[in-house]
Amino acid sequence: MPLLEVKDLQVAFTTSEGDVHAVDGVSFSLGEGESLGLAGESGCGKTTAALSIMRLLPKNGRIVSGSINYQGYDLTKLRDAQMRTIRWQHISIIFQGAMNALNPVRRIGAQIAEPIKLHEGVDDEVANKRVGELLELVGIHKDRAADYPHEFSGGMRQRVMIAMALACNPKVVIADEPVTALDVMIQAQILELLERLKRELGLSMILISHDLSVMAETCDSMAIMYAGKMVETGSVRDVYKNAKHPYTKDLIAAFPDIKGARVLPAYIPGDIPSLVHPPQGCRFHPRCKFAWSLCEQEEPALVDLGGGHCAACHLNTTERRE
Ligand code: SF4
Repeated sequence: MPLLEVKDLQVAFTTSEGDVHAVDGVSFSLGEGESLGLAGESGCGKTTAALSIMRLLPKNGRIVSGSINYQGYDLTKLRDAQMRTIRWQHISIIFQGAMNALNPVRRIGAQIAEPIKLHEGVDDEVANKRVGELLELVGIHKDRAADYPHEFSGGMRQRVMIAMALACNPKVVIADEPVTALDVMIQAQILELLERLKRELGLSMILISHDLSVMAETCDSMAIMYAGKMVETGSVRDVYKNAKHPYTKDLIAAFPDIKGARVLPAYIPGDIPSLVHPPQGCRFHPRCKFAWSLCEQEEPALVDLGGGHCAACHLNTTERRE
C-alpha cells in the first residue's frame, strides 16, 4: 500500500476571469522510501498539487474533489487542527525560492529551532541540540547556527532550508524546484544531499521540477503534468529513456543533461493554454507537431502501455488515418 496516494484530484482557483482548473483529475502515488519526480513547465499544476497535499492553498484556491490518502487518512477531509499535526511532522515542504525567504535579521539557528519548539514543545536546550544535529546532517558545521543568512552562499542557504524541512522528522518531503537558480555544480551537490538524506533517513520524496535531467538523477519514478492534467507516468527508465508523450519528449529535449555541457535550455514553441477555457480534446494539441483532427476532438485517456508506464496520447492507442 502506498504511503501517499493522490486520487483524481481537482483543484480550482477563483479569479476575475472565472475558475482556473489548475489541477484536473490528477492521480499519483508514493511508496515508503521512494522518490517521485513531478515535472512540467511553470503553470502546469505541479506546485498546486504539492500545496494541496500540504493543505496550504492560497485563499482563492480550493480542492474541488478527489482524495489525498496518507497512512489511512484522507487529508482533504481533515480538520485544520488535525492537519497541523500532519504538516511538518509527517509531510514537509521545501518551498520554491525559500532560500531567499530566510529572515535576514535572525540567526539561522533560531530560524531552524522555531518549528521544533512550536511543533514538539521542547525547551531551548533540546531545540538547539537538534539544530546542531540538523546542520551537521546537511553538511554545515554546527557552530554556524550563530550566523546570519547573508553569511551563507545560495547553496548553503538551500542546505539550511533542507534542515528546516527535516526539523520535525517527517516521513515525506516535498522539494519544489530545490536546485533552480543554483549554479550547476551546486545543483549536483544539493541533489546528492537530498539523495543521501532519502537513503539514510528512509524518506519518501516528491521532487518538483521543470528539468527532467534533474529527476533522472534522483528519482525512482516520474509523473509529467501539462495544463493541469497528468500526461505520462512511470519509472524513470520508462519515462526518461522511452518517453511516449510528445510533451515529455519536448521537455527532455529542452533541458541539457545535468552532467553534460552547460547549454541554455531549448524553447518549446507555443504557450501553456488558458486553464479558464482550456482547449478541447488533447490540451497539448495547439503545440504538438503530431496533432491531427482526432486530437482536437477527443481527450486522450491515460493508458497503461505496459508495466505501469502510462501516457495520454492518441498516437499510442489509435492508428492515424490522415
Ligand atoms: Fe499530440 Fe495528439 Fe498526442 Fe496530444 S494526443 S500529444 S496532440 S499526438
